[in-house]
Amino acid sequence: MGCCILYSLYMTSIAANLQAVRARVATACNAAGREVESVQLLAVSKTWPAESVREAVVAGQRAFGENYVQEAVDKAAELAKHGLGPDLEWHFIGPLQSNKTRLVAENFAWVHSVDRLKIAQRLAAQRPTGFTPLQVCIQVNVSGENSKSGCATDQVSALAHSVAALPGLRLRGLMAIPEPSEDRDLQRRRFAMLRNVCEHLNDEGLTLDTLSMGMSHDLEAAIMEGATIVRVGTAIFGARA
Ligand SMILES: *Cc1c(COP(=O)(O)O)cnc(C)c1O
Repeated sequence: MGCCILYSLYMTSIAANLQAVRARVATACNAAGREVESVQLLAVSKTWPAESVREAVVAGQRAFGENYVQEAVDKAAELAKHGLGPDLEWHFIGPLQSNKTRLVAENFAWVHSVDRLKIAQRLAAQRPTGFTPLQVCIQVNVSGENSKSGCATDQVSALAHSVAALPGLRLRGLMAIPEPSEDRDLQRRRFAMLRNVCEHLNDEGLTLDTLSMGMSHDLEAAIMEGATIVRVGTAIFGARA
């Protein structure tokens, strides 16, 4: 008995956390009157070793988000050695410098953090022929002066139309990282802004289906405002060092 309790404590912390996050997502979907299947959970595994990813995979998780290109490539290679290659889907969600675009184009299924045309052009040129198109979101600054990252809202339309025209990429939608806040109404206003920008782009003729928004502390507000991908790290893997 004691042994079983110990065993389950040891074995399942990531599995249990995943279960709890899935329950949060389901509860938020219910509250928003949305289908649970309309929200994809992206497990943000940055700074955590391949072994942590493997634990999450065993618990049924398939899509992982990473911020540091080389760390992610090394981790994916290690998992592939253990037979966990083709089934996993890697999303790049961190700031992207020009000199890292090739590794991203060659190793990821998605990029959430495109914020300027030059980066998108490089990704398009460097996506290997024969690969499925790289799935792309444009990162938008919804926090104004409170944030430095992301495309300014008044420049998103021009960038989105340019990105949508590039070969090798498929523009799927928008991503935002609002400034951290405990104020649920403020969280919702920021996420609503991203949804509004997305609706505006679709009115202009684009066909975006993805809103990448919501993290460990604000995924409920994001789901209320239409998130289709929530990016959750801490609540699954624990606090990062
Ligand atoms: C680290 C990170 C996350 C996960 O944040 P948590 O608060 O740990 O859930 C989500 N999105 C991006 C872009 C990140 O860098």
